[in-house]
Amino acid sequence: MSFIKYSFLTLVILLVSIAPFVQADEPDPNYWRLDEIQAQFDIWEAEYPDIFHPSVLGQTGNRLEIPMVTICNQEPGSNDDPRMLFHGALHTNEANGTTAIMASLEMLLTGYGVDPKMTARVDSLEVTYVPILNVDSHLYSFSGGVNWFDWRKTMRDNNSNGQPDFPDDGVDLNRNWDWNWDAYENDQPADLKYKGPYPFSEPEIMAVRDWVLRERPVVVVDYHSPVTISWRKYIFWPWMDTAGGGMGPDHNVSDDVAELWAAATIDENGNQYNEIYAYSTLPKEQNWIYANTGILSFIMEISDHCWWSGAMVDTIGTRVARGGNALLDRVVDGPGLRGVVTDASTGEPLVAEVKIDQMHQDTVGPRLTEENHGAYHRLTRSGTYTVTASCDGYESQTQSVSVSNSWETLDFALESPLSSVAPGRDLSWLRTGNSNGDVRLEVPAGLPAATVELFDLRGHRVGVLGENMASGQAYDLQFPNRLAGGVYLVRVRAGQQEQTQRVVFVP
Ligand SMILES: [Zn+2]
Repeated sequence: MSFIKYSFLTLVILLVSIAPFVQADEPDPNYWRLDEIQAQFDIWEAEYPDIFHPSVLGQTGNRLEIPMVTICNQEPGSNDDPRMLFHGALHTNEANGTTAIMASLEMLLTGYGVDPKMTARVDSLEVTYVPILNVDSHLYSFSGGVNWFDWRKTMRDNNSNGQPDFPDDGVDLNRNWDWNWDAYENDQPADLKYKGPYPFSEPEIMAVRDWVLRERPVVVVDYHSPVTISWRKYIFWPWMDTAGGGMGPDHNVSDDVAELWAAATIDENGNQYNEIYAYSTLPKEQNWIYANTGILSFIMEISDHCWWSGAMVDTIGTRVARGGNALLDRVVDGPGLRGVVTDASTGEPLVAEVKIDQMHQDTVGPRLTEENHGAYHRLTRSGTYTVTASCDGYESQTQSVSVSNSWETLDFALESPLSSVAPGRDLSWLRTGNSNGDVRLEVPAGLPAATVELFDLRGHRVGVLGENMASGQAYDLQFPNRLAGGVYLVRVRAGQQEQTQRVVFVP
C-alpha cells in the first residue's frame, strides 16, 4: 500500500515538474513580444519624458531596428556619468532576460522621485537597456515558427534557400566575436553553436561592439537562460585566461561585484545565485569586450531552462531585476576611480589610455576614455594606486591616488610636445630623406648649438640624435637601430628656437 502511495506521489511530482516543459504553439503570453515592448516604450516615454530616452542600437540581419532605451536624468551623453549596458535575448529562446529588463525599467521609472535609492540610480548613472538583441528570430519564434522552442541563432539563411530551416540556418551571436576565432572550430552551419562564416558577420553584435567602443561603459551585462542546465543561476565574471594568463587583472573586483549581485538575486526557492569566473576560450561577447577594452563584462544565466509559463515568467523577471539593482548600486557608490583626460592647453577631451599599475596585464585592454568628455571609470577595491594617462602626441602623466570606500576623482591634463613649438621656426632645418628615417639637419648660421631629440607619439623621449651641433653646419642623423618601425617626432632645439617634425622610421 505504501508503495502505491509513493508511486502516486512520484507521479504527481513528475507531472508538476514537467508541466512548464510542455511545448505550446508559441511562447507564453507573459513573455514580452516586440510590438508590446514598443507600445510600452511609447507609454513610458510620454509618462517619464525626462528620464526615459528611447533610441535604436543598430540594425539586424533583416534590416530591422533593435530598440533600446537609456535611463538618466539628462540627455544621454551630455555628462560623464558612468554608463552601463544590459541586454537580453541574444539567444532567442532565452527570453527571461527580456522579462528582467522590462521589470528593471518599470522599477526605475515608477520608483524615480519616490524611492531615494531608485532616484539615486537614475540621477547618478546612464543605464542603457536592450530588451531583445536578436530581433529577427524573436519575431520568428513569437509567431510560432517551426521549432521556435529551440531557435537560438540569428535568421541568416545559411543554405540560401530563401526560407528558415531548423537547425540549418542561423549563427550563434555568442560565438561570432573576433576572439580566438580560429581556435573555436565549430564551422558547421547546422550546429546550434555555429560561429558563422567570419567574425562579426552578424550586424546585431557589430551594433553592441560599436556602442561599447563609443560609450566605454563600466559594466556590460548579457542576460542568458541556460540550455546547459548545470549552469543555471550563475553569474560569470571576467576571467580565467586559458592562454596561460590565469586570473585577469580585475579578478578581485569582478569577483566582489558578482558576489554581491548574486547574493541579491533570489531564485524561486529563496536561494541566492552563484558566481564564478568565465574561461577566456570561446569567441563570446564577454571575452571580446574584456580582452579589447578591459570593461567588466558579465553573463548571467537566469533560470533552469528557457521557456516558462504563466506568473512564473514575471516572478523570474522581478527577482532578477532586484538583483540587478545591487549591481547598479555598486556603480553608484564605488569604490572606484574616475576622471577626465584633457589637452592641457585647449581643455579639449582626449581619447587616452588610463592604466592602473596594480590592475594591469598587457593581455587586457587598453582602457580608453570615451570621446565626448575624455571620461573614464574603473571599479576598484579601496587601496593606493599608481595611474598613468597616455595619448598619442602627448607627454604621459603618472599620479598616485588613494581610494577609500567611494569614487575618487583623478583628472589628467596632458601636455603635447608639439604645443611648445616656438614661433619663427625655420622648416629648412630638418630634411627627411627616404622613409627609412634618414634625417639631415642644417643648422642655420647665427644660432646657438642645436640638440636633436626623438619622441614616440605618446610623448616619451626615446633617444637623442645629436647634441652641440654647430650653426652653419650640416649633419646626417641616424635613428637608433633598437627602435621599432613607426611614426616618430624629431625635435630640434637651438636656443629659443625649436622645430618638430614627424618622421616615418622603417628599421
Ligand atoms: Zn545563451
